[in-house]
Amino acid sequence: MYDVAVIGGGILGVATARELIQRQPRLRVVLLEKERDVAVHQSGHNSGVIHSGIYYAAGSLKARLCTQGARAMRNYCESKAIACRDAGKLIVAVRNEELPALDELHRRGIANGVEGLRMLEAGEIREIEPHCRGIRALHSLRTGIVDYAAVTRSLADDVRAAGGEICTGHAVMRVRTGAREIALRCANGAEVVARRVIACAGLHADRIARLTGDDPEPRIVPFRGDYLLVKPERRQLVRGCIYPVPDARFPFLGVHFTPRIDGAFWLGPNAVLAFAREGYRLTTIAPRDLLETLTYRGCHRLAARHLRTGIGELYRDVVRRAYVAALQRYVPELTLEDTLPGPSGVRAQAMRPDGSLVDDFVFSGSDRTLHVRNAPSPGATSSLAIARYIADEAHRRFTR
Ligand SMILES: Cc1cc2nc3c(=O)[nH]c(=O)nc-3n(C[C@H](O)[C@H](O)[C@H](O)COP(=O)(O)OP(=O)(O)OC[C@H]3O[C@@H](n4cnc5c(N)ncnc54)[C@H](O)[C@@H]3O)c2cc1C
Repeated sequence: MYDVAVIGGGILGVATARELIQRQPRLRVVLLEKERDVAVHQSGHNSGVIHSGIYYAAGSLKARLCTQGARAMRNYCESKAIACRDAGKLIVAVRNEELPALDELHRRGIANGVEGLRMLEAGEIREIEPHCRGIRALHSLRTGIVDYAAVTRSLADDVRAAGGEICTGHAVMRVRTGAREIALRCANGAEVVARRVIACAGLHADRIARLTGDDPEPRIVPFRGDYLLVKPERRQLVRGCIYPVPDARFPFLGVHFTPRIDGAFWLGPNAVLAFAREGYRLTTIAPRDLLETLTYRGCHRLAARHLRTGIGELYRDVVRRAYVAALQRYVPELTLEDTLPGPSGVRAQAMRPDGSLVDDFVFSGSDRTLHVRNAPSPGATSSLAIARYIADEAHRRFTR
């Protein structure tokens, strides 16, 4: 019997398994991942940005864990020689109505202890990004880029080297809770028994929580984000990250310009309700996932409130010219011909029955289980700090 079984081989599950073994080297830890490798879902399909901690309300878990996590991520990458660099970032206002929100981001960044923040006037924007236009911008020097799939694989190596087991191809389907143990029945027929369970199941977080008797709410609603690629010969249009001022009604940051650590340049992601939890294309439909979404009253309420925004987002998803037009507000020289269709990611976004999208990181559980219920962006940036938080929380709950 294992001491702890971790469900989910994304960056959070692997970082958590590593943190647990580092704290208690004799702990018997197993990690169960349904895919053939780690980092197959969100952790391998994201913008690759190390966020500095600007956006998050003071006192929130995101504010605390993002700033701590960004520091830990840089140190980890340095110690393992994983490529990572500060690309810098501009959050650009293009309309006067956006200025109060931009000022608020500046205040939040300072309150969260973000270093290297400066407000720029229109002329100064061009000194940083010669092709970018805006009326004012918040410049963050300490926004970095990294390949989170590479980080996850390295963390998995650490787990194995410390004696932990990582079992890929193990999809947890059923959970039986006994007096002293929890048995996890996997789709391949294996039964894994542990005294405690920590679930970092991303897009399936609510389902795994329900299997262990945890609250069914909040639910996970999948939001797909499609990227465009900038053709290699046009990559010099932009130097670092360029983000819009986000729409405060949603927890998404808006389509942005992001250099990748491998030299590529991505545009996006947008945010479209997906018809499958792991649906990386518009046409991918999983009947169970779609039915759950369509019958969930939270989704009805979200649709009633934001139908126009949703339709606009879907239109830009299908009509690439419209997608590029949204980006041209920041870099007018970008043309449709400069872009190619790119990859996609699906965000595990928690939603409440009233249709509101959960903003902060959320954890739940009992004295034997602990669930990550909402860990969208900046979850990858924060992963090493979240792992510490989970290990502290597990210690508190499990030794009650
Ligand atoms: C488009 C996009 C852009 C983003 N950009 C950024 C960014 O720039 N910076 C940033 O910090 N964050 C970003 N994020 C967020 C970041 O990717 C996530 O916060 C992070 O990857 C969450 O990690 P995770 O381990 O919780 O989830 P995941 O990586 O999704 O891992 C969950 C794992 O659980 C496994 N699993 C599920 N059910 C079972 C089961 N029954 N049995 C066994 N295994 C199971 C899945 O197969 C999966 O591997 C972005 C996310 C998306 C989608």
